[in-house]
Amino acid sequence: TSPRTTAPDPAAGEAVRAADRAHVFHSWSAQGLIDPLPVAGGEGSYFWDYDGNRYLDFSSQLVNTNIGHQHPKVVAAIQEQAGRMCTMAPGFAVDVRAEAARLVAERTPGNLDKIFWTNGGAEAVENAVRMAKLHTGRPKVMSTYRSYHGHTSAAIHLTGDPRRWANDTGAAGAVHFFGPHLYRSHFYAETEEQECERALAHLEETIVYEGPSTIAAVVLETIAGTAGVLVPPPGYLAGVREICDRHGIVFVLDEVMAGFGRSGAWFAADHFGVTPDLITFAKGVNSGYVPLGGVAISAEIAARFDQRPYPGGLTYSGHPLACGSAVATINTMAEEGIVENAAHIGESVIGPALREMAERHPSVGEVRGMGTFWALDLVRDKVTREPLVPYNASGPDNAPMAEFAAACKRGGVWPFVNMNRTHVVPPCNITEAEAKEGLAVLDEALSAADAHTSAPGAS
Ligand code: PMP
Repeated sequence: TSPRTTAPDPAAGEAVRAADRAHVFHSWSAQGLIDPLPVAGGEGSYFWDYDGNRYLDFSSQLVNTNIGHQHPKVVAAIQEQAGRMCTMAPGFAVDVRAEAARLVAERTPGNLDKIFWTNGGAEAVENAVRMAKLHTGRPKVMSTYRSYHGHTSAAIHLTGDPRRWANDTGAAGAVHFFGPHLYRSHFYAETEEQECERALAHLEETIVYEGPSTIAAVVLETIAGTAGVLVPPPGYLAGVREICDRHGIVFVLDEVMAGFGRSGAWFAADHFGVTPDLITFAKGVNSGYVPLGGVAISAEIAARFDQRPYPGGLTYSGHPLACGSAVATINTMAEEGIVENAAHIGESVIGPALREMAERHPSVGEVRGMGTFWALDLVRDKVTREPLVPYNASGPDNAPMAEFAAACKRGGVWPFVNMNRTHVVPPCNITEAEAKEGLAVLDEALSAADAHTSAPGAS
């Protein structure tokens, strides 16, 4: 568990930092208030900076590198593909484009056998929405408040995360509702069964009041990721499927984050035995080594565009380098049992360790997750469940989470922190020893969060 690092070179790091400051405009950030870490390299579950610090990647780079950094088989496949064919327009049949589509379609549930390739998750959501609107002839799309679906037009309108606010024109026909979340129940439920039943009744009622004949699609993350790894209660997704069928609504599952091993299955939908009409995916399909996403399309929806054109396309749809890396990633995940590894690590290492930490740490309100897809919901008070930081906090209001994140980094773990939650989302092929090493650091860093609770002894 001691992979290569490059020799420290602080001067080179400073040069990267200066060039970045001068010319890179960063996502979601006040440009003058950030100081991005210059990164020198990565391998397996680790990456490192120019100062000699190595980090265990408990974030998987935006929950993305399911196969870890620089997997040699995927790197070799990209190099081989680059030598053969770097680019070819989407109007041509290309071996890796077809093979990647076959490998994905083989793993999707039901008859979702056609793949529309995109460059990432938001474009996949954008096209799923377009397909649903064309298929039904209806104008509106429903999604949950606790969601993230991307930052392009339809995707950001569907997104519930407050990043929507500054982008919301109200013009995209997005209608939000509450999905199930027992720990912070919108429905005053006390059991998973009640939460499920009431969340389904709420969805049904929202559809009835909106007008079923105006709703093209319900778009759900199978397991809401950014919103806090919200695993739906048993029966919820099957219930949504039934409601959609009854009203002629297209059911879209967004598996951009949950898919390709993250949850310990190829698709998170596999855990719930549900087949949607469309699945959006990206990230884990090729661990983000080359930008790639897509929509898996049911036979019924694909048939609508059999004799008339699909009115959408992208110059880089099915990009050969991206598809070549997807073929290598999926084959490697299958050969190396990486999906099974994620399931095992979740069940035997991460889940038990986090639950045990929750008993000792006053700041840990709830532990949620499966596979290599977990979150700790951090609170000021376990009884009131008041979040450790206010919703959408920034600056001094966010200090408790910032201090926690800093403690993780000092300990050599790069965390994924969002609002009052820390997500434990390492590569799906993390080893038991690496996972334990990271969990020990997390355990210690939680003292920084505990200090902000109202528990006796906390300052
Ligand atoms: N859907 C989900 C569930 C996501 O988690 C994300 C990204 N975090 C997206 C869509 C958007 O993907 P991208 O950033 O590749 O556009």
